[in-house]
Amino acid sequence: MTSVWTLAGVLLLPPAFAAALTAILYAHLAIRSWYRLQRVPAFRTVSNACIIMLCCYTAALVMCVGGAPDLVTAIDRGWTGTATVVLALVVYFVVNALLVLPARDRIGRTLVDLFGGWADNALEFATLCLGTLNALALASQPGLALLVIPPLLILHRAVLVRQLEAAAKRDAKTGAFNLVGWHSLAERVLARAERESTSFGVLMVDLDHFKSINDTFGHLNGDLVLKAVASTIQATVRDHNDAVGRFGGEEFVVLLPDISHADIHVVAERIRKAVDDIELELDSNTVLNSLSVSIGTAMYPTAGTALQRLLDAADAALYRAKAAGRNRVVHTPTSQAS
Ligand code: GH3
Ligand code: MG
Ligand code: MG
Repeated sequence: MTSVWTLAGVLLLPPAFAAALTAILYAHLAIRSWYRLQRVPAFRTVSNACIIMLCCYTAALVMCVGGAPDLVTAIDRGWTGTATVVLALVVYFVVNALLVLPARDRIGRTLVDLFGGWADNALEFATLCLGTLNALALASQPGLALLVIPPLLILHRAVLVRQLEAAAKRDAKTGAFNLVGWHSLAERVLARAERESTSFGVLMVDLDHFKSINDTFGHLNGDLVLKAVASTIQATVRDHNDAVGRFGGEEFVVLLPDISHADIHVVAERIRKAVDDIELELDSNTVLNSLSVSIGTAMYPTAGTALQRLLDAADAALYRAKAAGRNRVVHTPTSQAS
C-alpha cells in the first residue's frame, strides 16, 4: 500500500526525493513491524525498498522522456501529459511485477504462476490509481489529499480480509490446507469430475514410526520433521492443480485432479521416494535421514463416488501399506465400487 505515497512522490518530486521518501516509508514499516513483534527480516525490507526505488526511477524516466518531469507540467500539456502519467503508472506496475519475480517461492509456467492471481494485481493497480489521485489532490489543493485516506483504509481492510481468508484455510504448522480448506477444494473437484465424467485421485500419506522420532528428538524437532515432509510433498506435486492437506497429526492427504490410474502410482511413488531422500538437520545438530511414509491411494469413481468413501478407501489402503512393512504405496483395488 506504500505505492499510494511513493507514486505520488514520483509524480510530484524530483526522483532522488521520491527515493528518499521510499526509504523513510520502509524504515517506518520496519519499525512498526518490530514493535508488533512480526519482525520482517532486514534483508526483505531493504530489498523491497530497493525494488520500489527502481520503480520510482523508471516511472520518473518515463515522465522525463514524455516531456513532463512532474505532474503540474503534465496537466499543462493536456492529453499528451495525461498519457505520459498513465504510461508512468503502467511502467511502475510492470517493473514492480518483474523485479519481485526472483523473490517468489514458486515460479511455474503459467502467467498466474509468474505474476500472481488477478486479485493481487487488481489490488496493486487500485493502489497505484489511488497514488495518482493522491498526487493530483496534492498538486491542486493539498487539503483534498485527506479524501484519499478513507478509500485507502478500505483497501487496507480488503487486504487483511484476503489474508485472513487464506489463513483460515491453512494449517499453521505446515502451511498445508486444513480440514476446511482441503474439503472445500475436494468438493469442487468432485463436482467437476461428476459433471465432466473425469477421474481424480486421493492419497493418504502417513509418516512411519513418527512417535519414536518425537520420543527420541523431542516434540519441537518432530514439528520440524512435519514441516519438512509437508514442503517435500508440496514440491513433488503440481502447484495449482493438486492440494496437500493436513487435518492434524502426522498424516497428509493429497488431492490429485485429472489423474489416471497409471499416473497416480507414479505420483505416489515420487512422494514416497522424495521423503525417503530427505536429509534434515535437527536442532541437536543431528542429521535425520531415515524418514519414510506409507501411502494409500484411491481413485474416483472406482473406489467411491462420495468424498468420505474415497478417504476411507485410501485410509484402508494405507493401513495395508503399514501392515505390509511400511515405506510403500498400496492402491485401492479398481474392482472396489461404491
Ligand atoms: P506408524 O508407522 O504406525 O504410523 O507409527 P507412528 O508412530 O507414526 O503413529 P502413531 O499414531 O503411533 O503416532 C503418531 C504420533 O504423532 C503421536 C503424536 O504425538 C504425534 N503427533 C501428532 N501431531 C503432532 C504434531 O503436531 N507435532 C508433533 N511433534 N507430533 C505430533
Ligand atoms: Mg504414522
Ligand atoms: Mg497416523
